Amino acid sequence: MNKCVFLDRDGVLNEELGFQVTSFDQFKIKDGVAEGLKRLKSAGFILIVITNQSGIAKGHYTDEFVMKCHNAIQEISDNALDDIYFAPGYDTVSKTLSRKPNSLMFERAIAKHHIDIANSWMIGDRESDMIPAKKMKFTTIQVTSDEGSSQADFVVDDFTSAVGAVLS
Ligand SMILES: [Mg+2]
Repeated sequence: MNKCVFLDRDGVLNEELGFQVTSFDQFKIKDGVAEGLKRLKSAGFILIVITNQSGIAKGHYTDEFVMKCHNAIQEISDNALDDIYFAPGYDTVSKTLSRKPNSLMFERAIAKHHIDIANSWMIGDRESDMIPAKKMKFTTIQVTSDEGSSQADFVVDDFTSAVGAVLS
């Protein structure tokens, strides 16, 4: 069984700009992410990104663009990420059971990667990350400058602090 840190992408690994990132020059990886991912990896966690990317269904960008952004994170983190699941759908365009706060992407990852649920974590920034993660019974960390979700076990200011909470 593998202990895992599940990671939301936008607002956690890259800057949340208040609009959907649709071009690569808008994709800014946050401070501390490369180092933090390497530290989690060194501590024996597998790392899986779970991200809503409804811009695909809306025609704002392609799945190739999502993978280009993913590869940029891989390059600066010595390929720390083990897998990525993204939900391309949006209910007004194409119905999806994958899109968070639904838990289907998590359930698929748990089965494929033999996840040790009791020793696994979710780092996200939105309530919609906390809801499925709590349903799966992970320990939840919310990275936010706002008031934390009632579903968050820990509320922190930045990714480095989230990594600290996992490793403490
Ligand atoms: Mg987010």
